[in-house]
Amino acid sequence: MTATRTARLLDGANCAQRIIERAAAAAATITESTGTVPCLATVLVGEDPASVTYVRMKQSRCRKNGIRSRDVPVPATTTTAELVEIVAELSLDPDVHGILLQHPVGSHIDERAAFEAIAPHKDVDGVTLASFAAMSFGLPGFVSCTPGGIIRLLKDYSINVAGMNAVVVGRSAILGKPVGMLLLAADATVTYCHSRTRNLPSVVREADLVIAAVGRPNFIQGGDIKPGAVVIDAGYNPGNVGDVDFTSARLRASWITPVPGGVGPMTIAMLMEQTVHAAAHQLGVASESLMPA
Ligand code: NAP
Repeated sequence: MTATRTARLLDGANCAQRIIERAAAAAATITESTGTVPCLATVLVGEDPASVTYVRMKQSRCRKNGIRSRDVPVPATTTTAELVEIVAELSLDPDVHGILLQHPVGSHIDERAAFEAIAPHKDVDGVTLASFAAMSFGLPGFVSCTPGGIIRLLKDYSINVAGMNAVVVGRSAILGKPVGMLLLAADATVTYCHSRTRNLPSVVREADLVIAAVGRPNFIQGGDIKPGAVVIDAGYNPGNVGDVDFTSARLRASWITPVPGGVGPMTIAMLMEQTVHAAAHQLGVASESLMPA
């Protein structure tokens, strides 16, 4: 009888919980020492059910862990100018330390203009051009939460990506592109795939590390995973299905993230950690001593 090898799980829920506990302790210290509760403003345009769920989840996690959540609902009919004004006001509001503008905002709105209205020191979701540039150059600033969460999860499991052939499938501004930049900074050799990539499975088959960020259920099959590769599935499709076919990929990979319970919880943990860092910085508290990474 031959034993079937299965990948070990990268438990994002567990890793996220530890980050959240540290963030909660730091939030409590900030509140005690300054009399101000760290506050995250969440701006949601319209009522897209998936976005409503994501935002509620983020708000509830914040509230349960000592971070105030300011709910800013905006009608779907809002214009770019109106949204920019709302976000710009939050950027100036001293009671707000972090701003999350939930993506997507609606196709009639210039999302980039709205993101750019977020002051970089409150950009705890890492969506502004300033944050992206700082991240790309390895300078201080906030990282995009899902990519940042992926890197933290790899570090937590002592997976050293230096020298690895990393293939990122997807090149969105909030996920694919920035995670590739962070992997490059960690000395991986990075290849991006996208909708115009020719013979994508053959590129994925060469990868020591696969990051799936496509938004298509079970898009990557186990047969396309190099034996022993590390597989990070950032996809989150209806029915709790990832972008990687977990059952077949698990038989080839060395490490794999489950969906749910992999990348998703890390995104929220990073948002909370960065909100606490932002509040600490704005309130003059040394957050690094409160919450070492
Ligand atoms: P997106 O903006 O729609 O980008 C999808 C990317 O996939 C694009 O770069 C696109 O290529 C590429 N793509 C689409 N079809 C493809 C194909 N047939 N072959 C190769 N590449 C293809 O999506 P996103 O916002 O990055 O999200 C991706 C997934 O991650 C979704 O499932 C989303 O729900 C999930 N997500 C999860 C979290 C979390 O916290 N867990 C956070 C964010 C996103 P082109 O650029 O050429 O169009």
